[in-house]
Amino acid sequence: SQQFIWPMAQFGQIINIYQRAKASSVRVFDLMNERGTLDESADAPDLNVVEGRVEYDDVSFGYGDETVVSNVDLRAERGDTIALVGPTGAGKSTVLKLLLRMYDVDSGAIRIDDTDIHDVNLRSLRRSIGYVSQDPFLFYGSVKENIAYGTFDASDDEIEEAAKAAEAHEFITNLPEGYDTKVGERGMKLSGGQRQRLSIARTILKNPAILVLDEATSHVDTETEALIQRSLARLVQEKTTFAIAHRLSTIKDADEIAVLDDGRIVERGTHDELLALDGLYANLWRVQAGEIESLPREFIERAIR
Ligand code: ADP
Repeated sequence: SQQFIWPMAQFGQIINIYQRAKASSVRVFDLMNERGTLDESADAPDLNVVEGRVEYDDVSFGYGDETVVSNVDLRAERGDTIALVGPTGAGKSTVLKLLLRMYDVDSGAIRIDDTDIHDVNLRSLRRSIGYVSQDPFLFYGSVKENIAYGTFDASDDEIEEAAKAAEAHEFITNLPEGYDTKVGERGMKLSGGQRQRLSIARTILKNPAILVLDEATSHVDTETEALIQRSLARLVQEKTTFAIAHRLSTIKDADEIAVLDDGRIVERGTHDELLALDGLYANLWRVQAGEIESLPREFIERAIR
């Protein structure tokens, strides 16, 4: 029935084509790491992240005429995790693409340590931000090369340390040629959970000040899920983290949860505060906890309007 459509999509039980397309666009971007079509002056200074503070100041944006992100304010300090939740199409990934400057804001500003990201060179901006996607990019090359991608002069020891922290070392040593096993196109097929842990290892090695996490929705078993959560917990320490969450249980401890609906932040607070508010988040939580079968009528009507 109609009532189940939104909750199911929201919880990532369905891996839809749209989400895959979304992930791959960021992957290509990550690989190319190039200037693109954004305006950037040739002598734009490097971004030098010291504090790791990230601030969205009244940010609005649309891909075309339609506004997709409206008046978003967010503020995170080093060590903070800000979670974005909301239905598919609410604008969560667009909000994060603006931080990576895949697009420029239409109005407002995004600042890192008080510097407008519009005024720094793109390469240094993207070097400062680690991106862990639900469908990480692996190229045809060894496991070792894939972990070291984006980091220059990493030693074998450092690569192994990163893999251990990402809970990937054990499965890697069980591959036919260990760290030298070829993966990616034409290489050894890895499971979704293994790919993701390689991507986490890569990001641990890169050690960026700011992290963007797009939570995995793929069907990993609970043991793998626990490993991924543990490695992510290590990764986010001392970093400024923005996470898109599909399963609310994984972002329960976030410093702030921003609930997006139709491009706007409609609720914000900690998990406990949002439960007390008894609005959209609280109802999503009840559905995921199995306490109720679907969202109350008022929320469904909003979602399908
Ligand atoms: P979420 O991550 O919450 O699912 P998105 O940020 O991906 O939401 O999408 C927000 C809105 O922007 C949706 O209506 C979506 O269709 C639209 N959108 C996303 N990417 C593009 C794009 N590259 N071009 C045009 N519209 C887009």
